Amino acid sequence: MHTEAQELFAGLATESSKLDMPPTPALPIAVPPIFDNLVAGIVQLDPQGNYIAYNRYWSTLLRVPHESLHGANVRTVFDSSLHGIQWADLAALACRSRNGSLQLSQHLRRYDGSSLWVSLALTTLRDEHDNVTSFLAVMLDITEQIETEQLLRQRLRELNALRMAMNELADKLELDDLLPTILRHAVDLLHATSGEISLYDSVQQTFRLHSQINMGTDYTGLHDLLSPAELTELHRTYEPYLVQQTDQATGLGMMLICFPLAYNEQLHGILTLGFKSERGMIRSGELGLLQMFVRQAAASIANAFLFAEVQHLATTDTLMDIYNRRHFLLLAERIYIQAQQQNAPLAILMIDVDHFKLVNDQYGHQVGDHVLQQIAALIKQMIRVEDMCGRYGGEELILLLPNTSVAQAQAVAERIRLRIATYAFTADAGVLNITTSIGLACLPDPTIPDLDALIKRADTALYAAKQAGRNCVMVS
Ligand code: GH3
Ligand code: MG
Ligand code: MG
Repeated sequence: MHTEAQELFAGLATESSKLDMPPTPALPIAVPPIFDNLVAGIVQLDPQGNYIAYNRYWSTLLRVPHESLHGANVRTVFDSSLHGIQWADLAALACRSRNGSLQLSQHLRRYDGSSLWVSLALTTLRDEHDNVTSFLAVMLDITEQIETEQLLRQRLRELNALRMAMNELADKLELDDLLPTILRHAVDLLHATSGEISLYDSVQQTFRLHSQINMGTDYTGLHDLLSPAELTELHRTYEPYLVQQTDQATGLGMMLICFPLAYNEQLHGILTLGFKSERGMIRSGELGLLQMFVRQAAASIANAFLFAEVQHLATTDTLMDIYNRRHFLLLAERIYIQAQQQNAPLAILMIDVDHFKLVNDQYGHQVGDHVLQQIAALIKQMIRVEDMCGRYGGEELILLLPNTSVAQAQAVAERIRLRIATYAFTADAGVLNITTSIGLACLPDPTIPDLDALIKRADTALYAAKQAGRNCVMVS
């Protein structure tokens, strides 16, 4: 309304100067005492804005002594210049309108510095020759209504932001993608200066820092802040927790609010938001909004954990805790294509336990299982992060080593063979000696058309290793 009014008034200054002024002063309309009790300001003004008559509530609205308005001009009680709206403009606009009246909502500043929102109705009064004699204005204080409207609009904006944030969370299944998204939205929703998300490790009973925004270099995470007693309390209530902290770098006070991310009575982590102390109180509405968001975030995190678990189950061999055959081949196919395109070296190792049937026969299947677990653990320790290890079949493992030449792969295979051959495998019956045979094949090789052929070559080399007496490495 305010901008609307400003647009209306733009360019009216010249027009208002042409306003027909009456030769004789207007006669005051008697304002009956009953109007004094009205919760609306009523005033009669001459065309120049001088008071002719007014009720008691008008002076109450303007916060001036009732009598002080005698002979005053409307300009002396309203600083309307602030909004660029002059009395002359208002008057001209009312005169010009078809029904001789004007209605608008306007923010006004009183001369005592305070301000208010008003709804103003201005009506032109004319004599029998149609000359404007005076104006009748009725003014209502609508400050509360406008402020409520502004608050509602603000809440609507916040709820909209919340809805969009929640929608975005619903799309994210991977923790590494989800957690930074949760953090970014939480910081935005509460206009925080910084934030972090730590995940809770229920086995170690500690927090592991995952994502941070603007926490400062000296800030090492939540575990610094909460004592074991406070942590126990957090577990009990799952209520937000306040921590006062001083920023080491600036010496300024910081307020941190920690929101437990709990779902189904299980603590998954803590969301911490940092505020500069001068930000002032957080509105309870804002806090409620964030708590709603935090509940959704905790549910999404629980979901992401579940998804990760399902993913793990679908891709991993539970006995050896390495990729299962299907997933290994899926990932290997992509790496194989990349290596082919870049003409980069790539090695495949097939590792088979020697006479493993005898281990089962002599010590039982459980001991056999345990040996397989230990072999997988040993191999995992000996390969790089970019290498992949999978269970190809019963007691047969497969390794893929990107960017590895024949000589390098041979050295790796020999190290693995030796490590297993010299390792003291423990079983109830005592120490077991286990050996392996390893076959390897490498790219580049123009005679190898695909991954399947590369694996077959490694398998042939493995067969050759068995033929050669076992406990050795053979290259195709
Ligand atoms: P070779 O040196 O020729 O490889 O002899 P081997 O006895 O290892 O070969 P063979 O293929 O005859 O036997 C493999 C054995 O591995 C038979 C099978 O019961 C055992 N095995 C396969 N998977 C598992 C498993 O998950 N746990 C246990 N305990 N044994 C397994
Ligand atoms: Mg075997
Ligand atoms: Mg075998």
